[in-house]
Amino acid sequence: MSNLKKKKKIFEAYSQNLEWIKDKTNVKFDIEFDHGILCPLCLKVFLEKDLIPSKNNHLTLEHNPPKSLGGRDNILTCKDCNNKSGHKTDVELLTYLLEQDFKNFSSNSKHRTKLSNENGSKVTADVSFDQDGRMIFNLHSKYSNPKDYKDFINSEKKGFFPIEGELGKFATSKFHFNMKAPDKGDMRLASIALLKIGYLLGFEKYGHIFLFNQNLDKVREQILNPEMDIITDPFWINYEFPEMYVGVNIITKPLELNCFLNTFILKTKSRNTQISIALPGYNKEDSIIYENIKKILCSSKNGTANLEITTLDPFLDLKDEERVFSSALFWENKKPVYNTI
Ligand SMILES: [Zn+2]
Repeated sequence: MSNLKKKKKIFEAYSQNLEWIKDKTNVKFDIEFDHGILCPLCLKVFLEKDLIPSKNNHLTLEHNPPKSLGGRDNILTCKDCNNKSGHKTDVELLTYLLEQDFKNFSSNSKHRTKLSNENGSKVTADVSFDQDGRMIFNLHSKYSNPKDYKDFINSEKKGFFPIEGELGKFATSKFHFNMKAPDKGDMRLASIALLKIGYLLGFEKYGHIFLFNQNLDKVREQILNPEMDIITDPFWINYEFPEMYVGVNIITKPLELNCFLNTFILKTKSRNTQISIALPGYNKEDSIIYENIKKILCSSKNGTANLEITTLDPFLDLKDEERVFSSALFWENKKPVYNTI
């Protein structure tokens, strides 16, 4: 399917979804429009003409999670938001995950670093773990100082050296050097990328109803301003849930932790990582969810609470008028407060 065809298909589904919400709720918009969708990040209205790339802001396909981490392009966001919130945090997330893979000696992980020998000579090298977990060093003369490179190569010692931990096995040459572990990934920015993935997953699965939640204003502000410390308490649940919970869920108990729980998988060449992001529900008191996560899950002695979780994924269909409101109706007061766009 061509890009434009795909964008049109997504636009059709989401614009119909928004029509139903306009018909059935008191949601108010600053402008009159038919057949439009909202950018889930800035909440601006976009029409079908905005599917065509132009000098002005327009709709773009958004891979969520990022393509580099195995995501698919099932939603549309506007170009301005895509530029503003996208690349920097996504790159940080990828860097962070690849560094973790390498630090865990995971197969198929790779890291470019400097090796320094006893004389202080430094060479640039790609260090990787192959399919079988063997560590492989590739030295780059091109990216190293020629004198240092020569000294490093010459520091190889020939002879028989016992291999540590391998009784009766010997190596015929030996290098002695230090290697700097990777530490370039910015964990804070990487975590904002996770918040964005969790939030956009909510939009993808629940449709526009997910956006009309005042408690999410702060989340959007944080995603669009990744350098700022807007949400400082933890917004993830550090637990590996069974596979059936990959998708969108609601934590129902304990009540203080009542929130959306959006769970997804990030794929690198080495492994799949499951991440669960908490997002506040529609009720007024849900706005303090992150304080509660900190209080209940981070401060308790063993960091656990008895969580009760309902997965909503199988019951949702944003193209089915009956089901458009199913996520909102789930909240206790049954009357979610919609904000004005
Ligand atoms: Zn936008």
